[in-house]
Amino acid sequence: MNTQTLPRIPPRIAVLATGGTIAGQAGDAASTAGYKAGVVGVDKLLDAVPALASVARIHAEQIAGIDSKDMSLALWTTLAARINELAAQDDIDGIVITHGTDTLEETAYLLHLTVKTTKPVVLTAAMRPSTALSADGPLNLLNAVTVAASKHAAGQGVLVAFNNQIHSARDVTKTSTYAVDAFRSPETGVLGFVQDGRVEFQRTVTKPHTTASEFAVAENWPMVEIIASYAGVSGVAVDALVAAGVKGIVVAGTGNGSMHESITEALSDAVKAGVAVVRASRVGSGHVMRNGAASDDALGTVSAGTLNPYKARVLLMLALSAGVKDAAALQRLFDTY
Ligand code: ASP
Repeated sequence: MNTQTLPRIPPRIAVLATGGTIAGQAGDAASTAGYKAGVVGVDKLLDAVPALASVARIHAEQIAGIDSKDMSLALWTTLAARINELAAQDDIDGIVITHGTDTLEETAYLLHLTVKTTKPVVLTAAMRPSTALSADGPLNLLNAVTVAASKHAAGQGVLVAFNNQIHSARDVTKTSTYAVDAFRSPETGVLGFVQDGRVEFQRTVTKPHTTASEFAVAENWPMVEIIASYAGVSGVAVDALVAAGVKGIVVAGTGNGSMHESITEALSDAVKAGVAVVRASRVGSGHVMRNGAASDDALGTVSAGTLNPYKARVLLMLALSAGVKDAAALQRLFDTY
């Protein structure tokens, strides 16, 4: 019997670059706020991290080069489709997406619900441009590839590796405009950690995702917009959205998804006109109780539960494009995902 140990072939990880501050460039190294996002190509990002060679064999693709504030629905469709193609290939073991931090939580949740694979899919980003002193992108990229190359990350849904932490796409949100520990998963906390090549998960996600999700990425996205409730708000924006043919409205409500009386009537009229209305909260943590601060039964509205308004919009768009319109059926989806 041959007892010789074969050398370990590192996993093959696809790195899909979309832009963001991780690919940002400033005129001088001290500048961390005034820079252009999404201009440095994926090859240069990878060249900055020689240690990647000992973690994985990299297949790189430049999908886009944008500031993620400008993320489009068409790019979401392209990205999800490309991830599904790559994940179906035998020679790809995991996928990393470099992204801007601004809309990372929206893209991550969209992919969490629409990519059909148990292979690791990991997003990462940076708060400082690639040219900055103490740029955080290179280490975040190394850690993201390390997570994507880890067998522990399989079947955990779409993950976000950032600042040594691993978050679920379901719960993660950006909570700082400048700090390098900009991401949190309010209430639930991180899934685990990645440091110096060690990947450690401390919990798993319980809600369905990826292969257990019933959603597919849309070709024709329904118009779904977000409005907020605040002191002195009027119903003008709601009425204008309904007149423009909106299919769904997410309300970033006060507190437990409560809504100013001045928009409640406009939203009730919107529901009667066939618009799906979901109550989320602008607070940033906690959940919105069905029939709590407003009567969903009476208004025909849906509670977003623990999804923030931006993620609630993602789920509502996917649900509407899957043909689900009825408030009770939508509520079941919001309770499930
Ligand atoms: N505006 C940048 C973006 O989202 C911010 C970042 O990446 O940190 O692309």
